[in-house]
Amino acid sequence: MGSVQIVTTILAAAITAVAVWLAVRAVLKMVAVIRLGQPAPERFSDKVARARTMLVETAGHTRMLKWGVVGAAHWFVMVGFVVLSLLVLEAYFEVVTTDGGLPIIGHWAIFGLVTEIIGVLGLVGILVLMAIRLRNRPTRPGGRSRFTGSTMWQGYFVEWIVLLVLIFGFVIRGFKVATDHFEFPFWATPVSHAVGAVLPDWADGVSVAAAIKIIISMTWLIVISLNVTMGVAWHRFLAFPNIFFKREPAKPAGSGLGALRPMTSQGKPLDFEEADPEKDQFGVAHVEQFSWKGLLDFSTCTECGRCQSQCPAWNTGKPLSPKLLVLSLRDHAYAKAPYLLAGGGKDLTGEEKATQAQLAHLDVLALAEADKPLIGTAEEGGVIDPDVLWSCTTCGACVEQCPVDIEHVDHIVDMRRYQVLIESSFPSEAGVMLRNLENKGNPWGAPQNTREDWTKGLDFEVPRVGEVDDFEYLFWVGCAGAFEDRAKKTTRAVATLLNEAGVKFAILGEGETCSGDPARRIGNEFVFQMLAQQNVETLNEAFEGRDKAKRKIVATCPHCFNTLGNEYGQLGGEFEVVHHTQLLAHLVATGKLTPVQPVDGGVTYHDPCYLGRHNRVFAAPREVLGDAIAGDLTEMPRNSERSFCCGAGGARMWMEEKIGKRINVDRVEEAMATGAKTVAVGCPFCSTMLNDGVNGKGAGEQVEVIDVASVLLRSVKPEQPQGGKETAPVGG
Ligand code: SF4
Ligand code: SF4
Repeated sequence: MGSVQIVTTILAAAITAVAVWLAVRAVLKMVAVIRLGQPAPERFSDKVARARTMLVETAGHTRMLKWGVVGAAHWFVMVGFVVLSLLVLEAYFEVVTTDGGLPIIGHWAIFGLVTEIIGVLGLVGILVLMAIRLRNRPTRPGGRSRFTGSTMWQGYFVEWIVLLVLIFGFVIRGFKVATDHFEFPFWATPVSHAVGAVLPDWADGVSVAAAIKIIISMTWLIVISLNVTMGVAWHRFLAFPNIFFKREPAKPAGSGLGALRPMTSQGKPLDFEEADPEKDQFGVAHVEQFSWKGLLDFSTCTECGRCQSQCPAWNTGKPLSPKLLVLSLRDHAYAKAPYLLAGGGKDLTGEEKATQAQLAHLDVLALAEADKPLIGTAEEGGVIDPDVLWSCTTCGACVEQCPVDIEHVDHIVDMRRYQVLIESSFPSEAGVMLRNLENKGNPWGAPQNTREDWTKGLDFEVPRVGEVDDFEYLFWVGCAGAFEDRAKKTTRAVATLLNEAGVKFAILGEGETCSGDPARRIGNEFVFQMLAQQNVETLNEAFEGRDKAKRKIVATCPHCFNTLGNEYGQLGGEFEVVHHTQLLAHLVATGKLTPVQPVDGGVTYHDPCYLGRHNRVFAAPREVLGDAIAGDLTEMPRNSERSFCCGAGGARMWMEEKIGKRINVDRVEEAMATGAKTVAVGCPFCSTMLNDGVNGKGAGEQVEVIDVASVLLRSVKPEQPQGGKETAPVGG
């Protein structure tokens, strides 16, 4: 060992010791913060499916690859990080001796080849990512950026470190080539040989370059260890457990969607008959009341902004960005952690848990952070502004896009639950809807005895459950389908088509009440449970004696479809629920319905969030339209998984939209830009929102918004009076 090697070895050992010590301290701190969260025992079920999903999503980059070039570039950088860590390890041998290398595999030509290829692809990948970040930088003139609000220096820092580590990998190899210490053939390592051809024959070059590479790598480790909220770096490690512990690992991509999680206290579902707000947690009032998985979610955010770029609220000028929401919760959790770890916190009656002695030595900043209300305006020092909380339509675009499976919607609804159930604090206009649900069983407050009015004038009988036993489908009409004038036309169209196809169906009539979706999504779990239990009881009675495969329900409203199919199981109601577009597609495919006259004039289709993204029903409505219309369906730029919300979900239908551009107007502009004369929908709320948008633009005479079922009915029974355009005002 020469004098240069003595210096490089000491430097490498010293910086590594400091970095490892800081990293261990940082990991212990993160684990301690995450453990502050509430129990979530369900996250340990189904470990095989969890492991499989984690491997598929990480090794296969299934979420990221939907982003094309950036996904591919990130895959190479990720693989480069894992494989080329071996080369960082090898550098520790190279600082000691100029011909050092990894034992055993370090001498195999195949190792030289693989690391050479990954090194080159990693270099290309990181240069692409750097270019994308620069091109999308928030400060660039005129343009929206998914990086707005991200901590940009952290992204640049990580990218430059990766670039330099990759470059120094080739420099080390180049010096080995130049000093004749390189053992891999040219065919396996052409780039290293080319670098060696331009480097001087400097005997100590290998050790010096290796020391620089170690110093760069350890600088990265030191910086991220001193910044435990630096998700852009930590996600390399945290993404694996975060995906492993996602809530429904067996479901395909986008699986964080569909059902909402039940309310839990101490990790157990809350039983409202027994629950006591002084003993049980009702939603989330403090950051430590999220589950540990919630705190892991916040820690894992990479600040990539993919969620933000798809969020309808953010894209129409509302203060909500799912990314910024997650970052606010993360920063608050870590800033408050010293107080919580010292024993601080409020019990369920609002009393401080810690003694004065426990808090005596705490940093004032941690104490100040602990005083912040989780939900509050800027003047109140709140972590999340109420306008942020109430802007969410629960459309799920954020969860769909997030490459590390963060579950934004669950966190938003958990915070809403506390606000509604304990604080009674929510947009006042939604109060009417909640009162109507409690008193009348529907959001409009329509008399229950008018639920069957939509059947009047049909030229066939619509049987009720109880009047017939041999029905195949229970037709769940839904409140909109029963009381709202436009939606009633869809209900009549579906019933007419089912009758035409010879499907035996029956309705509950006055036995039906609201599915509870708007109550649950606004956060009023109490009203949801009340309505859902009543419906589950009614449905179980209607299907008595049938096994699950024969407990078939068809619903026209995607919100009912989602709630009945995905959420009633939490209350003992197991049913086979289909959306009417699925059943109609089947009836056309099996020849029971025959479109005879194609509907022309150009048709586009708007995917309802609770049908498409939340339940993956993308094909069926398109199949129906494909059979019913002349020519091809014209897709909007934002369609299917990336469809843009109409603005009505998450109980936003019953709240005023006071900030920014109206979401329905944004969507209608996109639909109208296709030139289509018909905008087909599969949801009564989308129908209302888009009709309002079209009328607001004064385009009611040129563009028609109608349900897929009505389009099909026009094609199947062109002679049938269609009742004009579905542009009637909301009834009730
Ligand atoms: S659910 Fe939709 S509206 Fe809510 S934060 Fe996510 S993307 Fe935005
Ligand atoms: S998509 Fe996920 S990782 Fe990216 S900013 Fe949003 S929450 Fe964070």
